[in-house]
Amino acid sequence: MTKHYDMIAIGAGSGGLSAVERAAEYGKKCLVIEVKTMGGTCVNVGCVPKKVMWFAANAATQINNAQGFGFAVDVKNFSWEKLKQGRDNYIKGITTWYDGYLEKLGIDYIHGFGKLVDKNTVSVNGETYTAKHIVLSPGGEPAMPHIEGAEYGITSDGFFALETLPKKVAVIGGGYIGVELAGVLNALGSEVAIFGRADTLLRGFDSMIQTALDKDYTAHGITIHHGSQINKVTNNKTLVTNKGEFSGFDEIIWAVGRNPMTQHLGLENAGIKCDQKGFIPTDKYQATNIDNIFALGDATGRAPLTPVAIAAGRRLSDRLYNNMPDRHLNYNNIATVVFSHPPIGTIGLTENEANEQCKKVKVYKSEFTPMADTLLDHKTTTALKLVCTGDNEKVVGCHIMGHGADEMLQGFAVAIKMGATKKDFDDTIAIHPTSAEELVTMR
Ligand SMILES: Cc1cc2nc3c(=O)[nH]c(=O)nc-3n(C[C@H](O)[C@H](O)[C@H](O)COP(=O)(O)OP(=O)(O)OC[C@H]3O[C@@H](n4cnc5c(N)ncnc54)[C@H](O)[C@@H]3O)c2cc1C
Repeated sequence: MTKHYDMIAIGAGSGGLSAVERAAEYGKKCLVIEVKTMGGTCVNVGCVPKKVMWFAANAATQINNAQGFGFAVDVKNFSWEKLKQGRDNYIKGITTWYDGYLEKLGIDYIHGFGKLVDKNTVSVNGETYTAKHIVLSPGGEPAMPHIEGAEYGITSDGFFALETLPKKVAVIGGGYIGVELAGVLNALGSEVAIFGRADTLLRGFDSMIQTALDKDYTAHGITIHHGSQINKVTNNKTLVTNKGEFSGFDEIIWAVGRNPMTQHLGLENAGIKCDQKGFIPTDKYQATNIDNIFALGDATGRAPLTPVAIAAGRRLSDRLYNNMPDRHLNYNNIATVVFSHPPIGTIGLTENEANEQCKKVKVYKSEFTPMADTLLDHKTTTALKLVCTGDNEKVVGCHIMGHGADEMLQGFAVAIKMGATKKDFDDTIAIHPTSAEELVTMR
């Protein structure tokens, strides 16, 4: 007999797991289906391994920087293999922890490819299961370009599988994943070139951030080829571009975007609409065009970040099973960090967006060498910007690049989410000596 659930989630990543966990806490019977590895992109080939690599890159930078403070040390005997093994073990610990956790909550788990049969039925491994509510949380996968020789390159998934540190790398794509991987590889000792189609890194970010990162990456030895179109890759990993041929690479990493994994999900069987790129549109309650089917996370094409998928999943189950009829995620003012070197934190409107959307825009900026770098040969930039609007100078955007930006932003995000004005920032006594104090002392 077909087993019936309150909720079935297809995809056990950040979004799907959060929805079923919260539903189970309300006593609902749930099933989660995963075709790859429990935890999804974030845990296995995203945020978590990426952050481990970022810490490793920071360690290499700190060792080099120590010379400026009088230590006679050098980076020697770095073992990529040891780093990878430690990272993989750490992740294995997380993914196996899930098994016990799901069991404790009474959530059923099936390893296999889930497919919609109709609006209440899902098939996996040849069996069918029904549910009152179905959550589509299949996430995304790295895009590969449709050009000759694309297969000679790897994606971010391939980066995490690398067994050795490549000597010379081409990173194709100047988005956040591209600049993060480039920064890690450069700090660990690879020769790195970024090829981006746009004329800046981090398209869509504030122009101050784009310029500052470009300057710092170039100063730290990363070659940046803006306006580059890759036409072909040859079998010796030569890039044939609109700007000539570039060769000698040990690895080519495609960081050219991500596609939703919705192609074989059986959307048509349940009548679910998706857009041309395969993303599933939802309303503010994560509802698709079919009333009992919801979509979460990267597959919806909105703010593809782990905390967003988690928050949307939890709020959905709060709404469905805990009598909170208006509970939903507000997608405005979502803070995000790029783990570049140095890191970048950003929330709200860029200066350009504010000028397009708001009246009376006032911008406060500061750019300086952080105190941490004053004794070093290789200095980085700290760049800060507050974008304010209206007579009361409400802070509608905050953009930070510099040491500590990743940890700095969260608290400011609370203030901005609460509607803080420039005066609230000014009335806050600075913490000295820090880089963050500049955000409350700008004139
Ligand atoms: C390199 C990289 C770095 C990142 N860094 C950050 C970061 O620092 N901070 C941050 O917030 N976000 C980061 N992200 C983004 C973050 O990983 C995603 O936003 C998040 O994982 C989305 O969660 P999700 O639940 O939508 O999808 P996913 O986590 O991708 O989970 C979807 C799961 O569904 C499974 N699946 C798909 N189709 C089926 C099917 N038919 N049947 C069964 N299972 C299926 C997939 O195998 C996958 O495990 C990063 C992503 C990448 C690639």
